[in-house]
Amino acid sequence: MKTILRILILEDNETDADLINRELQKSGLQFTSKIVHSRVGFETLLEDFKPNLILSDYSMPSFDAATAFKIKQQHYPYIPFIIVSGTIGEENAVELIKQGVTDYISKQKLFTLSTKINRALNDVELSKERALIADKLRIRQEQLQKANKKLIAEKEKVRIANLELSLFNKELEQRVERRTKALSESENTFRTMMETIPQIAWTNTVNGKVMFYNQRWYDYTGLVQNAYGLRNYNAVIHMEDRRTYATHFRSILNTKNGGEFQVRAKRADGAFRWHLIRIMPIFNENKEVQLWVGTATDIDELKQLQQHKDDFISIASHELKTPITSLKASLQLLDKIKHKPASEMLSVLIGQANRNLNKVNTLIEDLLNASLANKGQLQIHQKPINIGDLIAQCCEQVRVEGIYKIVTEGDGNFDVFADAVRIEQIIVNFVNNAIKYAPLSTEILINIAIIGQDLKISVTDKGPGIDKKKLSSLFDRYYRVDNSDTSYNGLGLGLYISSEIIKRHNGHIGVDSEIGVGSTFWFTIPLEERLTATT
Ligand code: ADP
Repeated sequence: MKTILRILILEDNETDADLINRELQKSGLQFTSKIVHSRVGFETLLEDFKPNLILSDYSMPSFDAATAFKIKQQHYPYIPFIIVSGTIGEENAVELIKQGVTDYISKQKLFTLSTKINRALNDVELSKERALIADKLRIRQEQLQKANKKLIAEKEKVRIANLELSLFNKELEQRVERRTKALSESENTFRTMMETIPQIAWTNTVNGKVMFYNQRWYDYTGLVQNAYGLRNYNAVIHMEDRRTYATHFRSILNTKNGGEFQVRAKRADGAFRWHLIRIMPIFNENKEVQLWVGTATDIDELKQLQQHKDDFISIASHELKTPITSLKASLQLLDKIKHKPASEMLSVLIGQANRNLNKVNTLIEDLLNASLANKGQLQIHQKPINIGDLIAQCCEQVRVEGIYKIVTEGDGNFDVFADAVRIEQIIVNFVNNAIKYAPLSTEILINIAIIGQDLKISVTDKGPGIDKKKLSSLFDRYYRVDNSDTSYNGLGLGLYISSEIIKRHNGHIGVDSEIGVGSTFWFTIPLEERLTATT
């Protein structure tokens, strides 16, 4: 439905107003109109009638088109304002149109009114649309500006965040650098420590993988420093101890307390030596295991000593038990015949008891002497002794017990300053050993010689001889070449005590032996001892 046009006609001349109205009606426009000619009326109708077109005379007695136009412009700029006048000149019309008046119609050409009205109304619509579009554009522009502002603000935020990030990054880098430095320093210290300790040492990951070995590992095993060397620890462990190693190692890793166990490890020369393996955890600041440190301490000598001690205890018990059992048997028999003093058995049994008692006595004396020698408290009483007499005495002692031929070589007719009892003890021990350990050698040779400034006494047998590798240990405490053979009695102390006695005489003791040929045990004491004694 077409809207009815509300036309305000500003005209003081009623006839002209009628003419206009008529012309409007002629044009076929749907309209309603109100006529006014004063300022007050005009203003009131603007408010109340709300015209959508104004047709105004140019000049009226109390009002004029220019003023009316200005009033309308203030509040209703879109209402088309057409001047309908007969008096306005061409120039005034142009001037008014320049100021914004919509159009001008001469009263003489009213027939153009409808065309001009339509054009004006179209123009208004167009202006309205343009204004609407301009408004939309403005709003859009404002929105864009807002968005732009927001974008700039966001960009600023991003720039600040980037700046903070780069600062944080820098700090982080510095922290990482400091931490890396500290770590590498502590790692260096740790490695230096690992290289300084006398044991073989290594590290394992939490899962037990070897990460590092110190130089001692490579020196001991002869393995080369490469990945193979890291992996190949199992080959170093004695076949019989591998299971022990694996079991203990795994259980230590599980308990997280650390622990130790003993295994044999192969040296570069192929020899297996006992080692004490100790695996300890290193914790991080959260008290979690960070890595494991392993050390292997060579305890082979300790093990051997322990073994010797164990062997010694069993030998000593055996050695003491044998004569005591015999002594007990003799005493039991003596008890049985105590009421028959004439019995021949009496003296035999007493003799037997005495011999066994002597054996026990000798063993206990050896033990005491060995303990005194170990503490450096072996008593030596030196005085001039004749070597020839001393040797003869020794031969007397051993001849009582055996059927051996003891041959003495060399001239012993001179004195030395020595402890006769102790030197006799050594020679008797040499000869007794020759009897014990070289039973098939019926001839034992005692040689007296002067070598340079020393008296040298040696005892040679033609027995089985002794393995060269064992010669250096013969003079050690508790050492017996073959502990498993219990057919020979002895505590492995005789040669040790002998060597201690000779040391106290400032002499030397030794053995020369060859398998299948025999052995020569010897000692020397300086002849000055003799000079000191005789001058
Ligand atoms: P013991 O005779 O009490 O065992 P010793 O100290 O006198 O102790 O001797 C140490 C070891 O030396 C003996 O156990 C023996 O194995 C060896 N030995 C000593 N003398 C001889 C020898 N003449 N021939 C072979 N082996 C010997």
